[in-house]
Amino acid sequence: MVHTSYYLGVDIGTTSTKAVLFGEKGTVISMHHVEYPLYSPAPSIAEQDPDEIFQAVIKAIKGAMVKGAADPAKLELVSFSSAMHSLIPVDEHGMPLAKCITWADSRASDWADKIKNELNGLEIYRRTGTPIHPMSPLAKIAWLRSDFPELFQKTSKFIGIKEYVFFKLFGEYVVDYSIASATGMFHLEQLVWDKEALQVAGITDNQLSKPVPTTFYLKGLKPEYSHELGLTSDIPFIIGASDGVLSNLGVNAIDPGVIAVTIGTSGAIRTVTDRPVTDPKGRIFCYALTENHWVVGGPVNNGGMTFRWVRDELASSEVETAKRLGVDPYEILTDIASRVSPGSDGLIFHPYLAGERAPLWNSHAKGSFFGLGLHHKKEHMIRAVLEGVILNLYTVLLALQEVIGVPKKIQATGGFARSELWRQMMADIFNQEVVVPESFESSCLGAIVLGMYALGKIDDFSIISDWVGTTHSHKPEEENTEIYKELIPIYIRVSRLLENEYEEITKFQEKWVK
Ligand code: ADP
Repeated sequence: MVHTSYYLGVDIGTTSTKAVLFGEKGTVISMHHVEYPLYSPAPSIAEQDPDEIFQAVIKAIKGAMVKGAADPAKLELVSFSSAMHSLIPVDEHGMPLAKCITWADSRASDWADKIKNELNGLEIYRRTGTPIHPMSPLAKIAWLRSDFPELFQKTSKFIGIKEYVFFKLFGEYVVDYSIASATGMFHLEQLVWDKEALQVAGITDNQLSKPVPTTFYLKGLKPEYSHELGLTSDIPFIIGASDGVLSNLGVNAIDPGVIAVTIGTSGAIRTVTDRPVTDPKGRIFCYALTENHWVVGGPVNNGGMTFRWVRDELASSEVETAKRLGVDPYEILTDIASRVSPGSDGLIFHPYLAGERAPLWNSHAKGSFFGLGLHHKKEHMIRAVLEGVILNLYTVLLALQEVIGVPKKIQATGGFARSELWRQMMADIFNQEVVVPESFESSCLGAIVLGMYALGKIDDFSIISDWVGTTHSHKPEEENTEIYKELIPIYIRVSRLLENEYEEITKFQEKWVK
C-alpha cells in the first residue's frame, strides 16, 4: 500500500528502544527495536549507559524507516515516549559523569525514607505527584549529594534519558511536563520546579532542564544526525511524554472513569483526570499527559512475575507436560487453577515477592500464603497466586477510588490478558466489566497521536477510539463476586497485620540467606 504520510513513534524503554512507523490511519507499517544491557553489579544498582541508549535510538529510527521502505519526505513527525525517573549527572559540555540511574535502582532508599519522615515528604509529594520512593530523581539527587559529594559538585545538570537524547540531537536541554512530573521536583499546579523539593535535593533550577509542554517540538536536527538518520532537518521532533501516560492514550483509556489495568511482569492501574490529583495518604502518583490530561494511579511490582515464579519454582512437572504437548506452560497452569473454586477454598496469597510499591510503598514487603489447610493442593496455591495479584491491584483501585470515584469501565492489557481465567477473575474481583483493547505498541501509538495533536493535525484525542478496537470482554459473575466480597476484607486485614513484620523478616533474610 502506498502511504501519503508516515508518523514515527519512538519509545525509550528500560530494556530496549523501539521505533514504530505508522501510516495515516494508525496502522503499523514497520518496527525496529534495539536492546541494551541493564548494569546491575549489586542488587541495589540498576544503571544503563546513556550512549548505548542514544545509539539505540538512532539505530531504531533508521531500522524502522528502512524496514518500512518509507520515503523520508513523507515523514510528518517523530514523537517520543520514554521510561520515567531516570537520572544522569552531566558536566558543562553535556558529557555524562556517571551512568544513567534507572527507576529500578534502589540505592536512594535511605534518602527516600529520610525525605518521607523528616523532610516534609508528604507535602512535597502532594505538590509534585511522585510518591517519595528511591525511584524518584529527587531522592537520587539527595543521595548523590550526600554519598558522592565530588560527583555532585562537578555536575552541571541533572537530566533524564530523553533530555540526553534531545540534547545530543538539538543541543537544548528541555524536559516535557510528563517526565518532569515524575522527578518528584515539579510543581504540578504551577508547572515550574518546586522550590522546597529543589532545596531538599540541594540544587537550583538552572541545574535542571527547561520544562516544556508535551506538545513542544524542535526542528533543526544537527547536521551529523540528519545525515546519519537520512531525515531532513525540518522534520518536527515532538518531545512527547512518559511511557506510562502514553500507553493510557494508546489503549484508548483517556475518558473520565475509564481505568487502564496492565499486568505484565509488573503491573499498574491508571486513569485520566483533567487536573492534577494527589492522595492525602501518598499512595498514588499523578503524572502529566498534557496540561489538561493527568494520569493518576499506582504501579505494582508484583504482576505476572509471581506467576512466572510459580511456573519456574513449583511446576516443573507441568512445564514438562507442556513441552511434551507443545503448549505454553501458562496454559496448563491456568487450566489446573480453573478446577479450583473462586476464593481457592480459603487460601489467600499476598504477592509481595519483590517488595511492593502501590499500595504499600514498602520495599521490605514479602509474599505469603494465608489460610493453608490440609485440604489445599497445589492447584489451590496456583489459583491463589493468580487471585493474589488481582486482589492486590484491587486494593490499589480502592485507594484510587478515594480520589477519583468509582470507575465506569476497566481496560485490561499485558501478558495476563492472554488467560481467559485471569481476565474473568479480574471482572469478578473488581466487580466491573473488563474489556481488553487491541494493544500493540501502545506507548508509540500514544506518542504519534500526541504528536499529531501537537502539530494541529487533530483537535483532540478522539481519533484513538477509531483506531483501537476490543478483543475480549468479561462481565462479573454474581456467584463469584459474592465470594470475593467476603474474601477481600480478610486479604486487606491480614496484609495490614503483616506490615509490622516485613522489616524483621527482611533483616533475618539479609543475615542468613547467603
Ligand atoms: P512484560 O512486562 O515483560 O512486557 P508481558 O506483558 O509479556 O511482559 O507479560 C508477561 C507475564 O504475562 C508473564 O510473567 C505471565 O505471568 C503472564 N502470561 C503470559 N502468557 C500467559 C498466559 N498464556 N496465561 C497467563 N498468563 C500469561
